[in-house]
Amino acid sequence: NPLARAKYLLAAHNPRQLPPDGGFEVAFAGRSNAGKSTALNAICNQNALARVSKTPGRTQQLVFFDIPPTTDRYLVDLPGYGYAKVPKDLQAHWQAFIQQYFETRQALRGLVVVMDIRHPLKDYDLQMLGYAVRRGLPAHALLTKADKLSRNQQMQSLAAVRKELSSQFADSVSLQVFSGESKLGVDDARAVIGGWLEM
Ligand code: GDP
Repeated sequence: NPLARAKYLLAAHNPRQLPPDGGFEVAFAGRSNAGKSTALNAICNQNALARVSKTPGRTQQLVFFDIPPTTDRYLVDLPGYGYAKVPKDLQAHWQAFIQQYFETRQALRGLVVVMDIRHPLKDYDLQMLGYAVRRGLPAHALLTKADKLSRNQQMQSLAAVRKELSSQFADSVSLQVFSGESKLGVDDARAVIGGWLEM
């Protein structure tokens, strides 16, 4: 698993702080508390790559992880969204930065959207998926915390989300059940991300 070598590179608060736009990267998006940090840690087989349960709203930055020995492959942790207490003007700043990143970043090869399997497809999830799909980028949805549901309930949710995604985005978005806790689906997620990074 090459992603096990991922390590923190930098945090960008504005476009000037982004690393060179010459390689391959995969961005991770998700509502605060959806389980994005736990998913990143599980996929990279590390305990503390992305910090779990940081104060939401305070991590307003794009966090880049590089993957040695390459110098041009990155995982990008986008700020958790949907946290109401972020001031409006800061929210607008973030909205603009993220949108610009999605529209202009050449290295971006795919988007992973992490959603709590019990609360999928909220407005911001659809907005992020829309940014990616409008640019012709593939997206992959992780329905995480699947360990909280029975196998039957997991399959019901998967089917419902699949139906909604294909009606909105045709076949641009793939999806799977996932659990950062039980590691369900981790290998499948790694395969998708590794494919996008061509590694
Ligand atoms: P983030 O804000 O999206 O980065 O979410 P975190 O990864 O910090 O997780 C939020 C909370 O959900 C934490 O208490 C995690 O322990 C819990 N959590 C995350 N993933 C899972 C999972 O797959 N299963 C269960 N049961 N809990 C999870």
